[in-house]
Amino acid sequence: MRVGVIGGGQLARMMIPAAIELGVDLRVLAEAEGMSAAIAADRVGDYTDTATVLAFAREVDVITFDHEHVPQDVLRALVDAGVAVHPGPDALRIAQDKLVMRERLSELGLPVPDWARVENAAELDDFIADHGGVAVVKTPRGGYDGKGVRVVRSAAEVAEWFVTLVEDGSAGALLVEELVDFRRELAQLVARRPSGEVVAWPLVETVQVGGVCSEVIAPAPRSAGRLADVAADVAITIAEGLGVTGVLAVELFETSDERILVNELAMRPHNSGHWSMDGSTTGQFEQHLRAVLDLPLGATGSRDDWSVMVNVLGGPVEGSLADRYAAALAGHPTVKVHNYGKAPRPGRKIGHVTATGDDLDAVVYEARATAAFFQD
Ligand code: ADP
Repeated sequence: MRVGVIGGGQLARMMIPAAIELGVDLRVLAEAEGMSAAIAADRVGDYTDTATVLAFAREVDVITFDHEHVPQDVLRALVDAGVAVHPGPDALRIAQDKLVMRERLSELGLPVPDWARVENAAELDDFIADHGGVAVVKTPRGGYDGKGVRVVRSAAEVAEWFVTLVEDGSAGALLVEELVDFRRELAQLVARRPSGEVVAWPLVETVQVGGVCSEVIAPAPRSAGRLADVAADVAITIAEGLGVTGVLAVELFETSDERILVNELAMRPHNSGHWSMDGSTTGQFEQHLRAVLDLPLGATGSRDDWSVMVNVLGGPVEGSLADRYAAALAGHPTVKVHNYGKAPRPGRKIGHVTATGDDLDAVVYEARATAAFFQD
């Protein structure tokens, strides 16, 4: 069982322990030397170069991903050469472009924020005028962690984005959405294997600061019953409707009138699922490997009443995470630390911690207190 992962970031890195346990031979095609998954990266190369990716793929049974940026022509060349690619190009195309994503989700009849494709400032200003004088503009491609997302009251505030669209010859349009008055953000993780089996983890609540995920609470408080059922239904409909294989993360808004709207999709293990490594019977990285290898999926129930994951953002101003272990671990024996082996830099995700237990307030405290030792 040989799995090739394209991309050497922390998601590839966290597949390594799961691969070791399962006896999967995991290989990584990293973008550069010394990346997070360097420990398993036997190849460094350009994932946009077909020959490089094909050569890597010939040595494995299935190709999967640490990110969604592998170009469509490279993905198609792999499929044409008989390589098993999970998730496949048709599914990934939808995760690669937010306009395509909105179109497909609308076609599937799923609840999404009101949206439009706008090609110029006049169209954008019309949408803003129709939506109470404010809207959220997104670049269809290449955005992450809130980059490429802007709340605007006038098209002039994203004038340069229209210029770039013309220059880079991309789809030629921006995505605009209503500014959703959400009560909170939620995420539903599911996994689907090529032969069809789908499983869903408990619905979680995610907390974003400045467009970046900072905390995840599993399960989402006050979500048992209807909310959890609706979210699982939505995510399973997407996984089946789009033919997603592997882990799928569906980012959701819960509105003040208790509706669920789909914001974003990620077709790979996701920050909102990191808690599952310590808090669920089957962690998302193990499950992703099982799914892409078309093996039976593992149980997704929680091991404890509550799991809280807190990201380590930025990291220590001086030194490494490891320098802080002695102080951070003392007095927090139940907390699990995950270090991505990345250099600290403001705003960068360099690790996370997860606490579990039966008292939510205590679990939140434990996770935040431990994470705080690794920052500033
Ligand atoms: P990225 O791809 O960078 O993660 P997202 O589309 O997920 O971008 O947006 C990042 C954050 O911006 C979301 O988590 C949410 O907090 C906020 N956001 C995105 N779209 C909307 C919207 N239509 N209404 C209100 N807030 C939004």
